[in-house]
Amino acid sequence: MRAFTYERAPDAQAAVAAASMPGAKYISGGTNLLDLMKLEIEQPTHLVDISRLPFKAIAELPGGGLRIGAQAANSDVTADRRVRTRYAVLSQALLAGASGQLRNKASIGGNLVQRTRCPYFYDTAADCNKRDPGSGCAAIGGFNRIHAILGASDACIATHPSDMAVALTALEAQIELLGADQTTRRVAIGDFYRLPGDTPHTETVLGPGEMITGVTLPPPPPGRQIYRKVRDRASYEFALVSVAAIIAANEGRITAARVAFGGVAPKPWRSVEAEAALTGRPATMATFREAAEVAMVDAVGRGQNDFKIDLAKRTLCRTLAQAAQAG
Ligand SMILES: Cc1cc2nc3c(=O)[nH]c(=O)nc-3n(C[C@H](O)[C@H](O)[C@H](O)COP(=O)(O)OP(=O)(O)OC[C@H]3O[C@@H](n4cnc5c(N)ncnc54)[C@H](O)[C@@H]3O)c2cc1C
Ligand code: SF4
Repeated sequence: MRAFTYERAPDAQAAVAAASMPGAKYISGGTNLLDLMKLEIEQPTHLVDISRLPFKAIAELPGGGLRIGAQAANSDVTADRRVRTRYAVLSQALLAGASGQLRNKASIGGNLVQRTRCPYFYDTAADCNKRDPGSGCAAIGGFNRIHAILGASDACIATHPSDMAVALTALEAQIELLGADQTTRRVAIGDFYRLPGDTPHTETVLGPGEMITGVTLPPPPPGRQIYRKVRDRASYEFALVSVAAIIAANEGRITAARVAFGGVAPKPWRSVEAEAALTGRPATMATFREAAEVAMVDAVGRGQNDFKIDLAKRTLCRTLAQAAQAG
């Protein structure tokens, strides 16, 4: 690990001022950043510890939404009664991630900004445009079983690993940001992540020193919420494919639908095409299969990950059937 300096930010304003200096980086729970620093993949010269800033609360918003502070622990959000009852898909997604110990330490802000699990990103001897821009992509033509089938580019085919972000996408969450100039802004989660294009090292719209201060959830959409995660082992493993689905039905007909996929793209992947194919249609397996086909119409396999296309379709059908049955 390279030498670095450290400070604990006394308040948010001081934090963004310190983090906008060259070489500085935020640390929250440290569960992703410290691993990357030990491998010298991330090499900050200065760490700004924001874990004790007063952004841990989960608060009611006027009109029925919730605001979750960026420093709230993943486990506290999972266990919150309001989250469990009104935003079950978020609680389920968080619970499906990492381990109990990690969730106790991991923050909401850090979860959103965690880096990919592409093995070549972690291997400093391999070509990786995300880690070393312009060096190439060892995953294209290499071991790419866990890689993206949607939204990738010829520069990078990595997936985003967060389960929570998939649920937040289905819930149409907004990310609250505090900038280096001390101004605040809100970004819809659908606009927060960038697709790789030819700059895969730029993963979000965060500006230099910009800090996530919270996440706001609009009032829950109607319908049953389900998060389903398919992975190589039953716990302590990232998604090969996941689905966040919210389905409302009346007399066997779907009246509203939200669908987002995880594990298939460089960002949480909302499928408005699947939602359109579901809305107004009977809640039957035939409808679910049509929605799965349109959701994956642009999917492209890279060899070892070809199986993900069918897996994503089947996972969506199974999740929709479960949601409709219980709805
Ligand atoms: C063994 C293991 C298994 C895991 N399994 C899963 C899984 O199955 N599913 C899943 O979703 N996740 C999984 N994770 C990832 C885990 O969820 C993340 O490591 C964690 O959420 C990161 O949060 P943190 O607070 O520790 O972030 P940190 O490690 O402190 O920071 C991560 C990044 O976010 C930046 N950052 C932190 N807070 C802010 C902020 N407020 N504003 C702007 N930038 C910020 C940091 O600068 C850093 O770049 C796993 C991790 C491990 C180690
Ligand atoms: S897929 Fe992306 S992260 Fe993985 S090696 Fe290629 S450029 Fe690097």
